[in-house]
Amino acid sequence: MNNIDALEAVYRFHDSLTARFGLVCTGGCATCCSVNVTMTSLEGDYLRRAEALQEPELGKRLGRAADRPHFRPHLTTNELAEACFLRRDAPVETGEHGEGSCPLLDRSGHCTVYDHRPFACRAMVSLERCVGQGEAVMPPFLFTFNLALYQVIEHLDRDGVSGNMLDLLTDHRDRSVPNRPLPGFLVPPEEQLRFARVLDELKKVVVGNGVLADFLPDSLPLP
Ligand code: SF4
Repeated sequence: MNNIDALEAVYRFHDSLTARFGLVCTGGCATCCSVNVTMTSLEGDYLRRAEALQEPELGKRLGRAADRPHFRPHLTTNELAEACFLRRDAPVETGEHGEGSCPLLDRSGHCTVYDHRPFACRAMVSLERCVGQGEAVMPPFLFTFNLALYQVIEHLDRDGVSGNMLDLLTDHRDRSVPNRPLPGFLVPPEEQLRFARVLDELKKVVVGNGVLADFLPDSLPLP
């Protein structure tokens, strides 16, 4: 049982969570598939298991995209959360977004690494079709719980880094930022009861011979 198994368990749990929300996202809908996707280095290790990434042509496409402007994070989710828990002013993200579609999309708008895609791709879901109509509409609770799952995933990789997917897949780890351990979750008061119930479910997800709780701190404060 290792952290990559725990990451896979978080992804599995997220699949079961999103299935409760009547989302409209479907294959071929790729509005959110841009060059600005971020992930942790642990997610990069998982993503490299995707068969499509073994193709040399795709490697070249990734390299070309990584050389063009794209979002590079200067902060991590747990870093922002830590500032909130310490009642410090939240640092401001200064990374700028780039133009263009994710090079892992195929010509028909399908993700070539779908089963191994990072959490940032999984978290982008909508209650309404956003193709040609603007922005995704996310259920507020799912938005909150997604934020918590970003934090959990960073914690699983707390000795690793976060960066743009293109940079991490092309071995530009120098363009990334160090991850941090989980300082607690950011949950609005009105969602804390439901959050606690779903968190309890998450902790019981089986990972090898144990459960996900084995990978998390014993006590996780809410603000
Ligand atoms: S990895 Fe897949 S799901 Fe994520 S942005 Fe790229 S094509 Fe879209």
